[in-house]
Amino acid sequence: MSGRKEMRAIRVANYGGPEVLKVDPKVPVPVPSDTQVLVEVKAAGVNPVDTYIRSGSFGTTGRPLPYTPGSDVAGIVSKVGAKVTKFKPGDKVYVIRNVSGGYAEFTVAEETNVGKLPTHLSFSQGAGIGVPCYSASRAYIKAKGNFKPGNTVLVHGASGAVGLACVQIGKAKGLTVIGTAGTKEGMDLVLKHGAAQAFNHKEQGYIDKVLEATNGTGPDIIIEMLANVNLDTDMKIINKGGIIVVVGSRGNVEIAPRLLMFKESIVTGFALWNAPPEEIVEMHQVISEGLTKGWLVPSVQKEYKLEEAPLAHEEIINNTGTTGNRILIM
Ligand code: NAP
Repeated sequence: MSGRKEMRAIRVANYGGPEVLKVDPKVPVPVPSDTQVLVEVKAAGVNPVDTYIRSGSFGTTGRPLPYTPGSDVAGIVSKVGAKVTKFKPGDKVYVIRNVSGGYAEFTVAEETNVGKLPTHLSFSQGAGIGVPCYSASRAYIKAKGNFKPGNTVLVHGASGAVGLACVQIGKAKGLTVIGTAGTKEGMDLVLKHGAAQAFNHKEQGYIDKVLEATNGTGPDIIIEMLANVNLDTDMKIINKGGIIVVVGSRGNVEIAPRLLMFKESIVTGFALWNAPPEEIVEMHQVISEGLTKGWLVPSVQKEYKLEEAPLAHEEIINNTGTTGNRILIM
């Protein structure tokens, strides 16, 4: 148990660019309530949503100022509330949502949002579970109508944190997975995570290869990471009766609604935080099974020091050649 009263944490005093992420060396260590767990953070996941909140583009749905960003961490239980039954000090855990912020040496989380970290995973991998794996799992919940033996899923943007989890979950569900990435390294990783085929979304003609790979019919499910670029194409290539699940989009796009008629397809999307309780239960089940059985393994692209949080935010939005999660190390 930590007797520390103060900790280092990133504090955001005003919404803005990555430079507003400042290390404060004297933030009070949060105190867990009866139902909460205090975790000594070893690694914290950086997700694109952290940058949207930091920039103020989420308005009132963002965190009130000042705040510490980050939902996903992994570390060691330091203290537990009186009603906590599943964890004790010393346990290695991952956290998928916390109360006080993840870019910090300590965080508190409700017991229900804490899981035991499997021994085969590092703290950095554990910090890559939350938003990426739960989003991937929810994408398949949204595509529920389309799980038939032999069906194909195109993970459009498979080399990123969410995409790699989509590849692994899709394979575990018995789907044939096709993934795209922007580099050879990314494509190799997508194949290593279980995709049957990988194509380069930066290469002209890659969509023809996706069609060839599905014998011309197109994928039955498309999980889309960049809808503002790809939605129109997705609507053209989706199989009849297929489902397109929009996970990510960073702008507007022109589409031909008539394609929905011809293909009788469905375009849907989700925001992770809107998940109803029954879907959260389903997501917990899929993720914990994948982690325990070992078929769901987060891939760490780069580790940063806490004071490099601005660089991590810069890179997660602007870099190409993604190969998994970006993680802050305490
Ligand atoms: P990430 O790790 O940065 O990955 C981004 C992915 O997009 C990479 O695989 C990247 O590939 C790929 N990409 C780049 N250009 C592309 C293109 N033209 N076509 C298809 N894919 C392309 O981000 P992430 O954490 O996986 O998140 C992915 C997106 O989902 C983000 O926009 C994020 O905000 C969103 N998201 C939404 C929810 C939700 O609740 N709806 C939850 C989590 C994430 P290369 O770098 O190899 O080119």
